[in-house]
Amino acid sequence: MKTIIEPFRIKMVEPIKLTTPEQRRELIASAHYNPFRLAAEDVIIDLLTDSGTSAMSSQAWGALMQGDESYAGARSWYRFRDTVKDIFGFEQVIPTHQGRAAEHILFGVMVKSDSIVPNNTHFDTTRANIEFCGGTAVDIPCAEAGDLDSRFPFKGNMDTAALKQMVAEHGPERIPLIMVTMTNNSGGGQPVSMANIREISAIAREAGIPFYIDACRFAENAHFIKRREPGFENTPVIDIAREMFSCADGCTMSAKKDSFANIGGFLCTNDGELAHRERNVLILTEGFPTYGGMAGRDLEAIAVGLREILDENYLDYRLFSTRYVVEHLHDAGIPVVLPAGGHAVYLDARRFLPGIEPLQYPGQALAVELYIEAGIRGVEIGSVMFGLDPHTGEEHPSRNELVRLAIPRRVYTQSHMDYVIEAIGQVWQRRAGIRGLKIVRAPRFLRHFTAEFEWIEA
Ligand SMILES: *Cc1c(COP(=O)(O)O)cnc(C)c1O
Repeated sequence: MKTIIEPFRIKMVEPIKLTTPEQRRELIASAHYNPFRLAAEDVIIDLLTDSGTSAMSSQAWGALMQGDESYAGARSWYRFRDTVKDIFGFEQVIPTHQGRAAEHILFGVMVKSDSIVPNNTHFDTTRANIEFCGGTAVDIPCAEAGDLDSRFPFKGNMDTAALKQMVAEHGPERIPLIMVTMTNNSGGGQPVSMANIREISAIAREAGIPFYIDACRFAENAHFIKRREPGFENTPVIDIAREMFSCADGCTMSAKKDSFANIGGFLCTNDGELAHRERNVLILTEGFPTYGGMAGRDLEAIAVGLREILDENYLDYRLFSTRYVVEHLHDAGIPVVLPAGGHAVYLDARRFLPGIEPLQYPGQALAVELYIEAGIRGVEIGSVMFGLDPHTGEEHPSRNELVRLAIPRRVYTQSHMDYVIEAIGQVWQRRAGIRGLKIVRAPRFLRHFTAEFEWIEA
């Protein structure tokens, strides 16, 4: 069969409230032209994030009811810990309420004010947590990542020559850890190859620097390796995942991504002494080490979700459905990041709206237009998100101006995606009339969440 179907049936539905473009014009104005500030009820297709927005299975909902809410040593904890250990393979598992809490604890114990942390591309909360500890977050993506049109199969790779140079220059004294984000979220949802992972691991081990994986979309990354990297065609995805993690010394994980959960996360390490220090922080900020920031029912749902996410029929469907949108847009001549990543479609706002200067935020402008056109909510990944240096307060254009349309797992059907493709095509037709924006109010850290904008006068 040519058609790849959604490998699930729908058992429960949530109605979508439909609105008109006139209503949406008013709504986005009251939200200060920041889609984060919209009420979700006023959104028709919500592609703001794939984080915590997945549809859980009947099995996960059933497991939820079996949550053991004991404060210490709950049955749900052991089920969660054993599942994480089986797939990720690390000795120490520290439960947190979401990924950024794992990052905060990890960097809090490892990063000092003169520290430098290399990553293929830091996710926004990762960068902010390193900078909050006084450290410097350095992105060293591979050269192909900079070419949005390149169909290089592993554009999430790290530039290992740049890594070697950084390690030679600064050494383990200044580099407390090397981190790699899989898949590379900000760089296009692109995968990292096993060859690259092994090479980074070898560099890290030779220098005596711990290597951490930001594992949020580990299953999508593993499936890309299976489908794109020679030698893995017949390897079960779970074994690919295990091999990825065996190259590393620890990981941070948001269970809101590749676990289908609505909340949750964890931090892993093989270093027992480090884990001891991390647990002391955990008790202060998250909770007792057998629940962290989660309820027993969350631990149960994640334990089920971590198994389901490795189902290869699901992963085939997942990668296919993202590719479906990307290839339709590309065929219509609309600038999108190629090739399709795992969890999101990235529109290239710089080429979509070439008349808008980077610091008039073409990505934000495009995100606003998608909402007005069809009630679609996406997020700018460009100069609003990355343009402000929190140390100096200076603004510089980001490397790329993208709009991310993240696809929640198992939530929308193909007709929803056809609607999205059609809406983007309509905005493309009227792109010449789209104006830029200016920021009227914003905080220093993670400003994209709350910033307020106004149109620039025509
Ligand atoms: C979502 C995400 C995080 C942070 O996780 P939260 O659960 O949102 O705190 C970190 N890194 C990457 C790559 C992510 O996608």
